[in-house]
Amino acid sequence: MRSTRMALAAIAAAGALTLSACAASSPDDTTDTGAGGETTASGDATDGAAAGDTIRIGIKFDQPGLGFQDGSEYRGFDVDVATYVTEALGYSADQIEWVESPSAQRENLLAGGQVDMIFATYSITDSRRETVSFAGPYFVAGQDLLVRTDETDIAGPEDLEGRNLCSVTGSTSAERIKTDYAEGVQLVEQPSYAECVGLLRDGTVDAVTTDDIILAGLAAQEGNAGQVRVVGNPFSTENYGVGIPKGDVEICEQINAALTTMVEDGSWDEAVTANTEGTGYTANAETNPPELMACS
Ligand code: GLU
Repeated sequence: MRSTRMALAAIAAAGALTLSACAASSPDDTTDTGAGGETTASGDATDGAAAGDTIRIGIKFDQPGLGFQDGSEYRGFDVDVATYVTEALGYSADQIEWVESPSAQRENLLAGGQVDMIFATYSITDSRRETVSFAGPYFVAGQDLLVRTDETDIAGPEDLEGRNLCSVTGSTSAERIKTDYAEGVQLVEQPSYAECVGLLRDGTVDAVTTDDIILAGLAAQEGNAGQVRVVGNPFSTENYGVGIPKGDVEICEQINAALTTMVEDGSWDEAVTANTEGTGYTANAETNPPELMACS
C-alpha cells in the first residue's frame, strides 16, 4: 500500500497529476504549512473526496474581503469561491485546510506540492504559466493606488515621481511599477499589503499600489477607515485565476465547470456583494463576471 502511495507521490511530483492525486490527501500525512513553511506535503492519492480526506487551499490571510483569517475563521471572496468550487469537487467546508500563500510564494507552494490549489488574488500571467496552470478567471480587478485621505496630488501612477510607493514582492503590481513607471518612483517592497498600509499611515510611503478590490478592503478595515482612500483610477487588467499544478487540464476543467455554475446560480454575485459591501467598491461590470479561458 505504502509503495503504491510512494509511486503515486512520485508521479504527482513529476507533474503528471490526476484529479484524485492532486486534490485529495489524508490528514494523517498532510502537514500544515504557513508562510515560508518548509515542510513537504504528501502526494498521497485516494479515490476522490472520501470522508476524512482534506484539500489544501492556498489563500491570503491578511486581505480583508478576499482572504482573511479571523481567529479560526477564514472569510472573503476568495474563500467563498474556493469553498463553492471544492464543494463541487466533493469536499465539505470542514475538509478544507487553508494554507497562507503570500504573493511571492504562490508558484513555489504549488510546484512543491504544499497546496492543491490557490485562490489568492492570483493574476493569470504568461510568466507564471511557465511554472503553474490556471483555471478561471473568476474575477477581474485593476491595479490602483491607495493614498492618505488628505493627499491631493496623486491621481494616478504618473503623479508618483519623487514619491515613495509601497507594493508587495512577487506581485504583478510591483512588477508593473518597475517596468512601466520606474523613473523617479522609489518602490519599497514588503511581504504583504497590510504592511504597506502601515507604512502609508506612518508617512514612510506616499502611496500603496495593488488591485483596487484589495485596496478597497484594506481602506475599509477598522483602524484604516477614514485615514486612507483608494484613488479610483485603475491602470491594469488583473484576471484572477485558480492556481493549480502545471498541466492538470482535468482539474482545470472541473474547476471551470464549478465556476460556471457559481455564476449561473447567483452564488458568484452574492459572494461579490457580501464581501465588498460597505467598502464603496463596485466590480467593473464590463469585465465581470469574466469569460473563462481554455484549460491547457
Ligand atoms: N493580482 C496581483 C498578483 O497576482 C496583485 C495581488 C497579489 O499580490 O495577490 O500579483
